[in-house]
Amino acid sequence: MPAANGLAERSLDQNPAYGMLLQYSCVIVIGGSLTTKTPKEMLMNKLLQDESCEGSRLACGFVCGIVLAIAVGSAPATARAGAVHGPWTLGHGDLSVTYSGTGTSFGSEVHLHSGAVVDGEVLTADDHGEPDEIQIVVPGSANLKRIDNPSGYFEGAAEGYNFTGTEFNATGAAVGGNLWVLGGSADAAHYGTPFVGLSAEEVTGTWNPNSISLTLGTVTFDGSAYGTTGGVFSFYSEEGDPMWSSIGGTQLPVSLVPGAGHMHGLMFFSQPGTYQVTLLASGLLAGEGGPVTGSAVYTFQVVPEPSSIALAGLGAAGALAAGWRRRRRAAGENSAFAEAAR
Ligand SMILES: [Zn+2]
Repeated sequence: MPAANGLAERSLDQNPAYGMLLQYSCVIVIGGSLTTKTPKEMLMNKLLQDESCEGSRLACGFVCGIVLAIAVGSAPATARAGAVHGPWTLGHGDLSVTYSGTGTSFGSEVHLHSGAVVDGEVLTADDHGEPDEIQIVVPGSANLKRIDNPSGYFEGAAEGYNFTGTEFNATGAAVGGNLWVLGGSADAAHYGTPFVGLSAEEVTGTWNPNSISLTLGTVTFDGSAYGTTGGVFSFYSEEGDPMWSSIGGTQLPVSLVPGAGHMHGLMFFSQPGTYQVTLLASGLLAGEGGPVTGSAVYTFQVVPEPSSIALAGLGAAGALAAGWRRRRRAAGENSAFAEAAR
């Protein structure tokens, strides 16, 4: 199914700057070394290929897209009034950086692709919203638990998730405990979640290197910064390597190609509640343009599982949850679904 938005059809492979970007991304991610090829370097190269987006279009037959943009202080020549607002519950969208072409500040938007569901309505064409007017809903069905889940989905493959490794400690979830997941396109379709990516597709201009860097800023949970308790937000590559966590620790920049860069990974949430996630963007204009920076805050609303509600004492809800779990398990074991969704 052809994408409604020309942007969505772009391939990094067709971008003449792609090769150069890969080199520069190594500098950014690995801290300056171009002399050896590390696994992380390979990872970043893969991230830049945006395979999950292609997979979702081919597989699921719907185009999704929300762009979380990076808004900033002065920018605003490029700031557009949000055309849509409300809870984003299904479909593809990207958290997007934008740039007007002048000035030292990036803008931001949530780029929603055709087929995404916002405020209960299916978008028939690509659209956008302001980051503070879109609530990204992570439903109870996305609580996959921090377990080895062989019936889970992973980027369209039926290989399942294994979240028990120590690399997933940065999710803040205990092994076996609750863990809400926003995954790849097949995962999003299967578990009924938004398919959320990061994008610099709407950044114009010439940059040196040809890369916009995204990092994690402040994250609040139900209005408070993370302390020793509270929900944890983290972002992993689609291969399961930690990039960002509100717990702290290693924070790796995500490099996106201006005008073309787009990627998807795995977003994790350790508790139900409201997360406000700040993303920071930075880039350097070619010539004498100087550095450009920006920040934007995106809101994720993580919903308790029906079974959790039942445990809280709502018997009727508990009965519903039991049925829901059986259906989900049956669907999860259907490998034909996974194959069809690839
Ligand atoms: Zn995307």
